[in-house]
Amino acid sequence: MAEAVIDVADVTKTYRMGEIEVRALRGVSMRVQPGELMAIMGPSGSGKSTLMNILGALDTSSTGSYRLDGEDVSRMDESQLADVRNRKIGFVFQSFNLLPRTSALDNVELPLIYAGISNGRQRCIDALSLVGLGDRVHHKPNELSGGQQQRVAIARALVNRPSIILADEPTGNLDSHSGAEIMRIFQELNEGQGITIIFVTHEQDIAEHTRRIVRLQDGVIVADEAVANPRRAGETEHPLPVVTPPAPVDTAKPAILVETPDTIV
Ligand code: ADP
Repeated sequence: MAEAVIDVADVTKTYRMGEIEVRALRGVSMRVQPGELMAIMGPSGSGKSTLMNILGALDTSSTGSYRLDGEDVSRMDESQLADVRNRKIGFVFQSFNLLPRTSALDNVELPLIYAGISNGRQRCIDALSLVGLGDRVHHKPNELSGGQQQRVAIARALVNRPSIILADEPTGNLDSHSGAEIMRIFQELNEGQGITIIFVTHEQDIAEHTRRIVRLQDGVIVADEAVANPRRAGETEHPLPVVTPPAPVDTAKPAILVETPDTIV
C-alpha cells in the first residue's frame, strides 16, 4: 500500500478559555491514501472545523501526531506551517473567498505569487480550463455565477499542485444545480487527475458523492465507512472539455477534410 498522504494518530485538541477547557478533539486517528475522495460529517460542535484546521496546517493539535505527505506537521511553528500550507494544501471555502474586482486569472495566480513563482500565467489558464472556465479567465467574481466563482476557487486551490485539497462546505452557498456541478468537478479531478480531496459537509446527499465518509461526534470518530456506490453528479450545461490525444498523422496519404457534426455551427 502507498504511504498515506495524511496520517493522524491519536490527535487531541483542547481550547482553554480562562478557567474553562473545551476538549474539541479527544483522540482522533485517521489515514488517508493518495487519490482518496472523502467527506467528514458530524453535528455542529463535533469537532469538524477543528480537525480541518489541523489537517490544513492552520493550527496544531494539543497532543498526538500528524504527518502530511511524510512530513511531521504536529510540532511545527507558524512559519513552518505557512510554508507547508503553500506547498501541500489547496483550500476551498464555503464563501469562495475570491478577491473582488480582480480577474479569475489573477485570483488563481495568488498562491503562485505567495510561493514566489512569477511565470505561472499558463499554469493558471490550464487550471481554469480544467474546471471548465478557459473562456472566463478575465471575468471578475461579480461577473460570474456562484458555481463559476467556486470553480475559480477550485482552480486557485489546484494551481500549486497540492498534495491534498481541503474543502469546507464547498456547496453550502450554492443552489442544488450548482452544487451538483461542483461535485462533478471534484469527482472528475479526483478520478482524472488522482487528486486527493477531503471535504466537510453536513449534507448526506453531497457526502454520498465520495467513496468514504468519516463521522465525528463529541470530538471522536464514531464511523468510518466506505461508500459502496458513490452518487454521480448529473450532467450539466457546461461539460468540461474532453481532451483527446491528437490522432497520428499519416503523411503518406493526402489529408482529407471530414466534416463532423462539431464543425457545423
Ligand atoms: P464543528 O465544526 O463540528 O461545528 P468545531 O470544531 O467548530 O465543531 O468545535 C468543536 C468544539 O470546540 C465546540 O464545542 C466549540 O465550541 C469549541 N471550539 C471551537 N473553536 C474554539 C476556539 N477557538 N476556542 C474555544 N472553543 C472552541
